[in-house]
Amino acid sequence: MPIGQGFDIHRLAAGRPCILGGVTLPFEKGPLGHSDGDPLLHALCDAILGAAGQGDIGERFPDTDPRWHGTASAVFVTEAVRLAAAAGWSVENADLTVLAERPKLAPHKAAIRGTVARLLGIPEGRVNVKAKTLEGLGPIGAGEAIAALAVVSLAPARSPDPASPH
Ligand code: MG
Repeated sequence: MPIGQGFDIHRLAAGRPCILGGVTLPFEKGPLGHSDGDPLLHALCDAILGAAGQGDIGERFPDTDPRWHGTASAVFVTEAVRLAAAAGWSVENADLTVLAERPKLAPHKAAIRGTVARLLGIPEGRVNVKAKTLEGLGPIGAGEAIAALAVVSLAPARSPDPASPH
């Protein structure tokens, strides 16, 4: 079964909404980006595209394209799932890790897990969300940036015709 990995990092800026895994967290800073800047969904998107042999998020959704300005990153994940399905694959599971000093993720892991599971169309039990601090080290440890890692596995697509409307 194919697996893919993704990584992303975004600078944190005051006044930006803190959107992580499609969930808006209460925090005074948020990830900068051309889209909503959600590093967790960007890493997830790259993991799906990687597993399906479909390139990367920068090729698919270039940040020079005004269509993606301010876009909710859920759109990218949905499109990556569609591209994987068109290539004959569905997402089997996702294992996600957030690297952040703040905000504390523990109170929000369940909401992120549920949101990602709904985006992928799989049971919550197949989505895992982990969080780590960097022990104060480097720009992430200093609270200047937030990063994410994602690993995804694929299985043969459940639908025989992924192009059919549903
Ligand atoms: Mg990104």
